[in-house]
Parts: sequence; C-alpha cells; structure tokens
Amino acid sequence: MMRLFRKKTDYSYYSSYNSRRRGLRIDRAAIAIIGAIVLVLAIVVYLNFNRIQFLMKGYSWSTTSEIVRSFDDSEEKEILSHDKMEHILKWVDNSNKVQLYDDYERYYQLSKKLDQDYNYEEIVEFIDEVFSGQLRQLSNYGYSHKIIWNLLEDGSTKSDLQFLLDNQLDNATTAPYRKVDGYRMTKMLEYIAKYNEVKDYNYAVNIVNYPFIISSNGKPTKNYTVAKPDDLLALVKKGFYLSEDYEPDDLVTPKDEYVAPDCGNRKLRKAAYNAMVKMIKDAKKEDLHLLLNSGYRSYAEQTRIYQETEAKYGGAYAAEYVATPGASEHQTGLGLDMTAQSVVDKKRLVFSDTAEYKWVIANCQKYGFVIRFEAGKDGITGISHEPWHLRYVGEDVARDMIEHNWTFEEYCLYRNVIPKFKKD
Ligand SMILES: [Zn+2]
Repeated sequence: MMRLFRKKTDYSYYSSYNSRRRGLRIDRAAIAIIGAIVLVLAIVVYLNFNRIQFLMKGYSWSTTSEIVRSFDDSEEKEILSHDKMEHILKWVDNSNKVQLYDDYERYYQLSKKLDQDYNYEEIVEFIDEVFSGQLRQLSNYGYSHKIIWNLLEDGSTKSDLQFLLDNQLDNATTAPYRKVDGYRMTKMLEYIAKYNEVKDYNYAVNIVNYPFIISSNGKPTKNYTVAKPDDLLALVKKGFYLSEDYEPDDLVTPKDEYVAPDCGNRKLRKAAYNAMVKMIKDAKKEDLHLLLNSGYRSYAEQTRIYQETEAKYGGAYAAEYVATPGASEHQTGLGLDMTAQSVVDKKRLVFSDTAEYKWVIANCQKYGFVIRFEAGKDGITGISHEPWHLRYVGEDVARDMIEHNWTFEEYCLYRNVIPKFKKD
C-alpha cells in the first residue's frame, strides 16, 4: 500500500513538471504580445494624455475635441487643474484667457444665485475687468483673489470694488464692517465715521443702514415687511411691519385664572404663554396677583383700535399712543399687557402703582420678558413709557439686555439682530 502510494505521487510530480515547462513557453509568447500592446497603449495614452483626462473629468468627446483643438498643452493643463465647467465651450467662444475660465464659471453660478441676469459675454467682460484689471490695484490694498471672491459673493459690483480703490480703503479697514449682514460697500465711509462715535461695528453698520431703528433719528424712509415674523426676536416697530395676514400659528388660549375679566385679546404664542404662567405662579407665592390684560391682536383688531382712538381723540393722539397696524408687538403674540388684581378690583388706579409692578421690574427677565417701553427711553423706542407692556425675548436675551441696560432696539443694533425683509 505504502509503495504504491509513493509511486503514484512520483508520477504525478513528473507530469506536473512537464506541463509547467510547456506553460513557460506559452507565457513568454503572451508576455511579448502583452508587452507590445502595453507599449502601443502607452504611446496612445502619452499622445492623448490631456484628452483622456478631459474625458475622465466628464467632458464629452466633442467638447474635449473642441478644447484640444483650441488650446496648447499648458492651456489644457490649466483647464484640467479645475473642476469640470458646465459652460466651457461658451468661455472658449468668448475668451482666450484660459486662466480666468474657472472664475467665469464660478461667476456664472454666483450670478444665478444672486438673481442677476448676465449673459456669457457680460460675465467674461466683468471677470476680465475685475481679475485682470482691478486685481493688481486691489491686491495692493490687501484684497487677495479669495477675498475678492468673498466680496463678489456678498453682491459687490464693479463699482463697489472701484469705490474701495477710489477711497483707498484697504482690506484691514473694511473687514470688520463686512462681517455685518447687509453692509453696503458704498456706505463704508459712513460706517467708519459712525464707528468712531459708537465704537461698535454692528451698531455702526446697522444704524447707518436703518437710522429709524432709533425713533428720534426720524421717520423711516422706507417701510419694510418682516420676512420671518415667527422669529422670537423679530423687531417690530414703525418701519418694520408685520404683513396684514400674519397670525402666529402657535397661539394658545390662557386659562381664565391668568386673565383679567375684561381682556378681549387673550391669546399668546406658546413660548410667551408658558413663561407668563410660570411668572404669575411665582408671583402668587409672594401674594402678588398678576393678570394678563391683553395679548395677541390681529392686524384687523389693531386697525379697529387705531381708528376708534382717532375718532375719539384725534389723529395726533392716535399716532402718539396707538401703534400703527402692522407695527404693534401685540400682533407678534409675544407682546403682552399685564395688570394686577388690585387694579381689576379698583383698589389701585394703575398697574404702575402696584406692588406687582415693582416685582415685575425686578423679576420679569428671569422668565424671558423685558419691559419694552421704559421711562426715558421713548427717544429710542418711539413709544412713551408703558409700564404694563412686556415683550417675550427669551431668558438669555432678557438677561443680556438688563446687563447692558439696553432697549430692544439697542440689543438688535449691538447684537446684529436685524429682521430680514420681504422684497417689495
Ligand atoms: Zn401693549
């Protein structure tokens, strides 16, 4: 058994040796053929290296042919160093400045985003002027290629860039103002002048853009419609209006125990309501009895109140004491008028005479409320002292405002919380 087995294995050994030798001969021939093919392929690849790369970037055969036909090797390499451009043939048609192709493409995308309706010729003309005309001068003022692109993305035009050059405004000078949303290049000198007065970049830019935020600076030159009225920090006042049909979608109706008996407009936005309930309950622990006197008012309701006041006391009085429809914080569902049980019971004449009022002054910020129209601040707010009117802004903001002794207007200016507007 053992012998047989060994013989068999020996046999199989020789057999495999022979076939391996045969295999080696075949392999040599194959290698020669493969080598030849590889060499040919290598030559083909070498001669068409750029073309292959264009195809691999996703350019079509015909586009690739057009590019290869139009440019020399170094120009092709320049194009290849950038991502695929959707409109490359347009740039080929309109410009031979290959080094700017990527900028054309980028500006094409940007102009779509900025809703500018530029055609290809205009884009080429604009980018040529900026990046081969103004660029050298701009870089002398510290504006790199990257920063110029940031400026374009902010919506800067050729004349904005020229404004920088004409006024010798370098990058270091303008950078802090450019961080503030809504800055406009051509107002840069005004921002700088204002900064020297107020020493705050946000404040400087915002007050130059919207001087009427501070009411004593005069009437709004334009009426803006707040684009995101649901924002807890939407500044609503003369000039910043809520649209006629705005009604918060999270209004809740308070329980009777929190509301004065003749309160007609009792709804509040959920966040404001929850905070108010907490405040009323905590006050009660100190035997103080706060009640809601007025909450959410619709645009139509505010119009009715305004017209009624006008008819009763005259236009001047209404303008002074009643918010213009759309400019009332009560329409946000975050503004509320408080009163006290003692006023309801006629033991006290007005809320500002009550112990509850004193407690509210000391404590309301803990619940996220501020007294919106304080004494001596009507130059800023445009509204005479209303001790009863609270505005819900949230605890952090309330604390920030109290800490700095800011009105809501000042908070918005310093913290750059300016509403976004609907386009007319
Ligand atoms: Zn009020």
